[in-house]
Amino acid sequence: MSKRGLGDLPAAALDGKRVLVREDFNVPLKGGAVSDDTRLRAALPTITYLRERGARVVILSHLGRPKGGPDPQFSLRQVVGTLERLLGAPVEFITDLSAGVAVSRRLPRGGVALVENTRFWPGEEKNDPELAKQFAALGDLYVNDAFGSAHRAHASTEAVAHLLKPAVAGFLMVKELKYLGDALQQPRRPFVAILGGAKISGKIDVIEALLPKVDEILIGGAMACTFFAALGLEVGKSLVERDRIDVAKSLLTKSGPKLILPRGAVVAPSLERPGDRREVPSDKIPADMAMYDIDGATQADFRARVLRAKTVVWNGPMGVFETPPFDAGTRSLAQALVEATAKGATTVVGGGDSAAAVAGFEDKLSHVSTGGGASLEFLEGKPLPGVMALDDA
Ligand code: ADP
Ligand code: MG
Repeated sequence: MSKRGLGDLPAAALDGKRVLVREDFNVPLKGGAVSDDTRLRAALPTITYLRERGARVVILSHLGRPKGGPDPQFSLRQVVGTLERLLGAPVEFITDLSAGVAVSRRLPRGGVALVENTRFWPGEEKNDPELAKQFAALGDLYVNDAFGSAHRAHASTEAVAHLLKPAVAGFLMVKELKYLGDALQQPRRPFVAILGGAKISGKIDVIEALLPKVDEILIGGAMACTFFAALGLEVGKSLVERDRIDVAKSLLTKSGPKLILPRGAVVAPSLERPGDRREVPSDKIPADMAMYDIDGATQADFRARVLRAKTVVWNGPMGVFETPPFDAGTRSLAQALVEATAKGATTVVGGGDSAAAVAGFEDKLSHVSTGGGASLEFLEGKPLPGVMALDDA
């Protein structure tokens, strides 16, 4: 799946041109201001590159989940100030698409405009070609840099890419596709995948798709408890998906020795009683307690496996990492990935909560995906509509 990238376009294709860029500015807000600008900063290489080449940049993005109409709570206007500060340049704000065409033509070379939340138009999530036509009128060519939205066929990610040519991948999109794609298609071995998080249900397809490709899959998080239950072990008050126990059984059979479960658990009567926590082997979880983290023995085991690996893909925390001290297993695994990276391994982290868990040392890992759902669908081997619609290399 090799797609044409922004870097493949000659300078003349950009100079003075209106470039419509789909970004993922779906950022967290607090009190009308951006509380985490990670996604904005991740978009800067593409926007800056375009500005430096004399393009007029018109940005599209969604924000949150408005119900198919304008809602001030989800207005991208709240993002304008932070974007201006990061760019060191003014940003025009477009709320009306037909008036926006004139705004896009008026922009100076290197100028930037941001269009209001794409989901304020009901046609966005329906991939409506009429809405896509209105978006397309705002540019002369199209760049999709929103990997985090590429698993959705929406007017601003899919339909528009058929109307506006060339339609190419931005730098962030190219980087995402390279790291995730190389890991899946040409992994250096041993290739170790680590899956955790709350639920096995959202990740069954990932496990199925990864099994034939990886050397080992390490399981942590509450997900492990559904596997314990499938083995007939006591899981106490742990989060278990009863209706997925049969699936867990069949995965255990299919995977043989590739699937590595935690050796032991950190258990406690409740999240509110961390003082009463203790470590128990996996087959000794007390009936009146729940597993909230992997134990020290499992940390050591997973660490050793990660340090032997040449390729590591990680999705989903090892425990309830938002509530210390149940973050210990997740932290220890993150540290192991950092060390593996320093030793030359390729390490890729995907998933919203997993990305939060490694916040602050992204630079010490090969790649932290900005797309939660999109990275999971990619790992499942599903084609991403927003990527498919772009020009082939
Ligand atoms: P990601 O967003 O990285 O894909 P998930 O959304 O699948 O990850 O899972 C993250 C959630 O899983 C976190 O909120 C975390 O508290 C929860 N979790 C992890 N381990 C446990 C556990 N043992 N019991 C309950 N919840 C858990
Ligand atoms: Mg999550």
